[in-house]
Amino acid sequence: MATNGYEGVLKMIEELTTNAGQIQDEVLREILSRNAGTEYLRGFLHGQTEKQLFKKNVPIVTSGTSGGQPKMTPVTSQVTKNCELFRGFYESPVIKHFGDINQAGKRMELMFARPEIETPSGLKAASVSTSIYKESKFRTILPKLYTSPIETIFCPDPNHGLYCQLLFGLIQRDEVVTIGSLFASTVLRGIKFLENHWQELCYDIKTGRLSDWITDSGCRNAASLVMKPNPEQADLIENICNCKSWEGIIRKLWPKARYIGCICTGVMRQYIAELEFYCRGLPLVSAFYACSEAICGINLEPLCKPYDVSYTFLPNMAYFEFLPVENDHDESIDMKKNDEDTELVDLVNVKAGQCYELVVTTCAGLYRYKVGDVLMVSGFYNNAPQFQFVERKNVILSVDQEKTSETDLSKAVTEAKALLDPLGFILTEYTSYVDTSSAPGHYVLFWEIKGKEGKHCKELDPKIMVECCSRMEESLHYTYKIYRKRNIIAALEIRVVKQGSFEALMDYYVSKGTSLSQYKKPSCIKSEEALKILDSRVIGKYFSPKSPL
Ligand code: AMP
Repeated sequence: MATNGYEGVLKMIEELTTNAGQIQDEVLREILSRNAGTEYLRGFLHGQTEKQLFKKNVPIVTSGTSGGQPKMTPVTSQVTKNCELFRGFYESPVIKHFGDINQAGKRMELMFARPEIETPSGLKAASVSTSIYKESKFRTILPKLYTSPIETIFCPDPNHGLYCQLLFGLIQRDEVVTIGSLFASTVLRGIKFLENHWQELCYDIKTGRLSDWITDSGCRNAASLVMKPNPEQADLIENICNCKSWEGIIRKLWPKARYIGCICTGVMRQYIAELEFYCRGLPLVSAFYACSEAICGINLEPLCKPYDVSYTFLPNMAYFEFLPVENDHDESIDMKKNDEDTELVDLVNVKAGQCYELVVTTCAGLYRYKVGDVLMVSGFYNNAPQFQFVERKNVILSVDQEKTSETDLSKAVTEAKALLDPLGFILTEYTSYVDTSSAPGHYVLFWEIKGKEGKHCKELDPKIMVECCSRMEESLHYTYKIYRKRNIIAALEIRVVKQGSFEALMDYYVSKGTSLSQYKKPSCIKSEEALKILDSRVIGKYFSPKSPL
């Protein structure tokens, strides 16, 4: 879709959202009439295509990719077409607010393809982002619209690729109008990498020669076409990077940047404060909500504060249903019904304020597939609901009958880390796990802490860390506190890990096949190996001194 026709696309969005109910019925009718003869659907529908029969007979099934577990989902030519359409949809509101970035300059977007693999039946499999980078359309627009050459995106070693993408972004810094990546964590990864490599990058820019450790021939060729000695630019960058505080560094390095484009909702919420520190005043834009299983919604208000973003669902992208979700830590142990007993709600019938688990049926052959995301209806745009991302389902800590969700954890961490801020320390990363190696089990939080203005986290008073443990416990839900009082759960522990531990965690998941572009740090560690990575980097352990009640 031509981006200069953004007004036309906005009009289409008006039509789609106005006729959401009717379009959803058409989407389902189309999927069923095309696929009713498949072996899977025949078993439930016996060749019929009625919506009511579909709703009555087709079971709800499960999926989800968070936690570093790659899953395979089918891709058809229709899926590719939808992806192309989607780009126009989510970019139009952005262009409306920030001007036509495609005409104004280039995007420095950190992008990483993963090698394709072949399934036993001979089909090619790749991450969604990789398939997008492989499309000929993308390759055609890349040199004009982006600073990264294709070779740096497909570079087999993500660190070589990242170094080169930062280098190309710096060389073209006066043209850069937006900076971003799919997820906020990758942007931060880029900034941290820059913190460790800016001197070397400046040297390369000064001499016009790419560092010898970048051995990838594609990257070297791409660099040789563009690089020439530029000592003035290198000096400018060096002066900017050499300053004591990196607050607002993005604005200084890329003065024409209009916004940072990356998803900052859901698990990525925890990175907002740190990103805001580096980009001081540049808006953070979470433009869309999508998953490998289906494309879902767009942010119609890109200037909205990152904590308040809602996504308006596009009814033409898939058939969406919603499984109502109860708030499950009321005082008693929850008596939730099975999914089979709960009726799924259609897109246009969801209720404001209610939380739902997303279930998708797609043109690629997923039927009533639970994506694993919990969303809350924040309002409607015309007849299409708008959702805030609440949490990944199943990302919970539980020692006994209590259930702690990602949101509970994030709230408690937010309360506790507030104790660090006035002392000049920032919590940059966290994750959790349940340690049941001794009885009773207890919650463990891994925290990576950074000191502002050259402070080292070793200077942190242990008393404050103990207080953080207490504050976390006080901020957790009622059931947790009751169980703590009865000693069903032992004292919460914070393990402070050294700088770079979470990067090592990311490297581990990437080495296991997770795409760097799509990496989402697990809120709760389930793998032994991942746990070892963090445990081997612990520099301090602190426990809550008393029960919170
Ligand atoms: P993947 O299948 O690797 O593309 O990851 C999709 C998952 O990423 C979704 O199911 C969500 O859990 C998460 N995700 C994608 N977009 C957003 C968003 N805008 N806000 C919060 N989480 C998101």
